[in-house]
Amino acid sequence: MNIVLFGPPGAGKGTQSDYISKKYNLHKISTGDLLREEAKNKNEFGLKIKSRIDKGLLVSDDIIDKLVMQIASNKLYSNRLIFDGYPRTLSQAKNLNNLFKEYNQKIDFVFSLKVEENIIIKRILGRLTCAKCGLIFNEFFNMPTDKNHKCGSNFLKKRVDDNEEILRDRFKTYNEQTALILEYYKSQNLFVEIDGMLEIEQIHGKIREIIHS
Ligand code: AMP
Repeated sequence: MNIVLFGPPGAGKGTQSDYISKKYNLHKISTGDLLREEAKNKNEFGLKIKSRIDKGLLVSDDIIDKLVMQIASNKLYSNRLIFDGYPRTLSQAKNLNNLFKEYNQKIDFVFSLKVEENIIIKRILGRLTCAKCGLIFNEFFNMPTDKNHKCGSNFLKKRVDDNEEILRDRFKTYNEQTALILEYYKSQNLFVEIDGMLEIEQIHGKIREIIHS
């Protein structure tokens, strides 16, 4: 089974993809995480990526397509991929279809998380990511505790692009470019909208229901 998780920044894609990948033993591809790793390298490539992320702009399709190709072509992950934050443009969506055709795979579900913008802002401004284990928490909705997180608070970091100014640009980018691909997936009958305003466990439950139905 291959899944695409779709939605605006802060809709909860990262959290839900962690839950789903654990439950169904899928390999998660977060293009945002891959790019942040690349951006740590202070070479020309890393700096180019960092400057796009810091401005809330999309990184070019050919960079993204190459990153995804390296993982999606790996037999180990065949038919067990979940994408978080990819595809984000129509060209990326078409590239993924071609890639899957080439490797004899398909997308089984495209889940789109729908969340009101005022909630998204709170989610993003409160977001904390563990630099060690990668788990995502929130200062307002999902505090890290001794029970749900073992690495300790020193590893919990805010993302540089999680601030109000860059967020406006990230929304603008989403509305202008990414929303277009919804129509593409609707026309392939793959698109399922999920209420992303529910509690984390409830959203996970809805996704599970659809997968099993
Ligand atoms: P995310 O972690 O998914 O919120 O992504 C953080 C940033 O990485 C975005 O604002 C973009 O600058 C970049 N990015 C992540 N995924 C993509 C993608 N599929 N295409 C282009 N840029 C991306």
